[in-house]
Amino acid sequence: MTSTPTTVSMVALTEFEIIQHYFNNETHSSFVELGVGDDCAVFVPTIGKKTLVSVDMLIEGRHFLASASPEWIAHKALAVNLSDLAACGATPKAFLLSLGLPQQLATDEWLAPFAQTLQQLAAKYGCILAGGDTTRTDILTISITVIGESPAPIMRSGAQAGDIVWVSGTVGDAALALAMAQDQHLTFTDSLSDVQVAHLSQKLHTPSPRVKLGLALRGLATSAIDISDGIAGDIRHILKASDVDALIDVDALPLSLELRLAQVAGIDILPLALSGGDDYELLFTSSSHNRQAVLDAAANVGVHVTPIGNISTCEALLPTVRYCDDQGRVIDYKFKGYQHF
Ligand code: ADP
Ligand code: MG
Repeated sequence: MTSTPTTVSMVALTEFEIIQHYFNNETHSSFVELGVGDDCAVFVPTIGKKTLVSVDMLIEGRHFLASASPEWIAHKALAVNLSDLAACGATPKAFLLSLGLPQQLATDEWLAPFAQTLQQLAAKYGCILAGGDTTRTDILTISITVIGESPAPIMRSGAQAGDIVWVSGTVGDAALALAMAQDQHLTFTDSLSDVQVAHLSQKLHTPSPRVKLGLALRGLATSAIDISDGIAGDIRHILKASDVDALIDVDALPLSLELRLAQVAGIDILPLALSGGDDYELLFTSSSHNRQAVLDAAANVGVHVTPIGNISTCEALLPTVRYCDDQGRVIDYKFKGYQHF
């Protein structure tokens, strides 16, 4: 990406100008031999490492509000992809950007902050923009493909009976922020300080992909997934892939101060914490004898992790997740994760 050009005006730009001015990234690395500019990018995989690839699409109105700023959109589009690499314990190396841009956004006003935010976040994680595609669409559509490396990827399929279930950070904040952005819980919103509102907004619009944690969990996590659709739905992917059951203590769920305040204000926070989307925290399992090692590894990268349950042998025909409180009383929680269809 080049620096913001001064020659570009408010008039709509052509496809060639857009690529040239905003995405003509000349950065290289030992992995990215050739990036933007040719028909293909050329990558040189590190010997002894596996290449991990993931793609995620974000569509206006579905994944972000039409009112979202170009900075927020750029951040989220890359962050959710980096989060997938984090869940596999992979080091980000490169990414490709497919941009479906409505005519009215093909301006410097929109593209400059979009490209700059993307560039900053990518640089933070050592991930190089190596190509993409640009086309005009009616609705803003962004698809990013990330490429990463790991000698031993963490998969969803490794959870075993006796393992501890962990979650990073706090859960439910993004869902609360979304409800507030949709004008729900107005009295509660009014009761929060600016700092608290900003914290919730940050969790929704500019999530921090847990890349460092994913790397720190190599050799410790038996399985992992990033929570995009809520713990309740996402843990089922681990259970299904690993053919095990889980018991989750809902009283152990890590909640932010803001979510606790919401609870005090009478808002039912369990659906937010268990079935709210967009947390982008890591949900993972480890053997119980690695409990302290997991705590130490997470502390080393400055991320809080909380044990929230246990894995057990699959008892029924299909893997099941059950919920209880801290007294061990069964909670009948029926919510599933967010489903697109
Ligand atoms: P082609 O017609 O051969 O597919 P394009 O004209 O679409 O090539 O793209 C030209 C070059 O610009 C390619 O190297 C492509 O990877 C890159 N490119 C196009 N759009 C983007 C984008 N949004 N971000 C990064 N690189 C892009
Ligand atoms: Mg093309």
